[in-house]
Amino acid sequence: MSLLDRLKAQIAQDGPIGVPEFFTRCLHDPRDGYYAMRPDLGAGGDFVTAPLVSQMFGELIGLWAIETWTRLGRPAPVRLVEMGPGDGTLMSDLLRAGKLDPEFLAAAEVWLVEVSGPLRARQAARLGEGPRWVGRLDEVPGGAPMILVANELLDCLPARQFVRTETGWAERVIGLGEDGEMAFGLRSLGQPPIDAEAEPGSVWESSPAQAALASDIAHRLVADGGAALLIDYGRAQPEAGDTLQALQAHKKVDPLKTAGQADLTVWADFPSVVAAARETGAKAGPILTQAEFLRALGIEQRAQALAAARPDRAEQVARQLDRLINAAQMGDLFKVACLCAPDLSPPLFEDAT
Ligand code: SAH
Repeated sequence: MSLLDRLKAQIAQDGPIGVPEFFTRCLHDPRDGYYAMRPDLGAGGDFVTAPLVSQMFGELIGLWAIETWTRLGRPAPVRLVEMGPGDGTLMSDLLRAGKLDPEFLAAAEVWLVEVSGPLRARQAARLGEGPRWVGRLDEVPGGAPMILVANELLDCLPARQFVRTETGWAERVIGLGEDGEMAFGLRSLGQPPIDAEAEPGSVWESSPAQAALASDIAHRLVADGGAALLIDYGRAQPEAGDTLQALQAHKKVDPLKTAGQADLTVWADFPSVVAAARETGAKAGPILTQAEFLRALGIEQRAQALAAARPDRAEQVARQLDRLINAAQMGDLFKVACLCAPDLSPPLFEDAT
């Protein structure tokens, strides 16, 4: 039975399910989940991420990591952790840039946190036997400082969706329509889920899973030192919006008709990520846009150097640069947050509080 049919049978028997349960089943169901079975990144797949747009992205993060490590006092070992490494491109570009400081490379112990079997295989094909793989951050041993990077991981963690109705607050759930197909419905709530002014009809999201991840990372940073970069599309301020999106072959599709066949995401909720990290005793913020972050790391100079070295590729590099930092493309929608140990002042995030 397909995941779609199994979900319908479950709802028919037990009643509607929340958006987070639906989301998690679609991505991680062991038999039919998107990441468990058929994750497909890249131009020929379902979605393209920043490291796949250009090698500059991972290289600049490599420079950021070297400088962060230097400000940590150049410890050996340092755990260089990537969560949700996709096809391994970001880590491979980061490590290439790491050659600028061979001592950094020698000190870096690479840990990849990945739940997807097919993606672990792609990462191993690109990165060889050097890294170690685990399924959860808490399996990475403590006792040494950590530099962590996660690009487009928060958007894989589910959010609850709340709707302000004329009469009060309700949570969006997924039930069955009269035609027997899955359909969104509402379950009323006694308590207001958020304390924001809300227009009737507006949808507000809250992601306990994203906040819990921020808190886990922050715990580790407080205990062992270090910093974490979280990069994703999302909001820098609390704001309304239904951001649940299913992508298949670069096109938006109906999440309720494509269970397990499409990548499913919600926006990263950076205000609650930052708040959760601070509650755990780490420093966090400010939230930069991807354009601000990459410009400050020198992406325009790097693009010039690449174009000068390979004039035949100058136009391609210009297009890649535009895609990463133009406000109408990824530049503004994507944000970068840094979480760090209280005694560290990471590059570009010296104002973290
Ligand atoms: N960072 C990569 C890939 C982004 S796709 C890039 O920028 O190209 C999302 C990644 O997160 C995939 O590697 C996916 O398998 C992983 N992932 C999804 N849910 C996860 C979870 N709950 N824990 C750890 N990794 C997860």
